[in-house]
Amino acid sequence: MRTIPLTLTCSCGEGTSVALAAGQAWSCGCGRVWEPDPTPFAAALAAAAGLRRVRQWLGLLLALVALVGGLLALTQPAWWPALPVLVGGVAIASGPTYRRRLRTLRERMRSPIGLTPVDARPEGRA
Ligand SMILES: [Zn+2]
Repeated sequence: MRTIPLTLTCSCGEGTSVALAAGQAWSCGCGRVWEPDPTPFAAALAAAAGLRRVRQWLGLLLALVALVGGLLALTQPAWWPALPVLVGGVAIASGPTYRRRLRTLRERMRSPIGLTPVDARPEGRA
């Protein structure tokens, strides 16, 4: 179950940082139980998944560059200097799109999520 880090503040003033999954509630020391509002929480979870995907693609790209660079160095040493030029060109060309996407996802992660009080009484009691 995926979680996202949240900074929560109870109406009593007590606050904490916790990682919550969808549908999980947080119990404050004062006895109140809070649940994050599902719609903005789902949007933050989706943004976190998007950030993870971006990092995975970047890791895959770096691994591919290392592989191609290693193969070039072993088989065609004369072409090896072309690799930094190619990597730099790709970085310059895709940089703005990459940065815009990261900024959008981080802003979605930072948007506030409301808390809804949950009835803390155990089921079966009045
Ligand atoms: Zn409290």
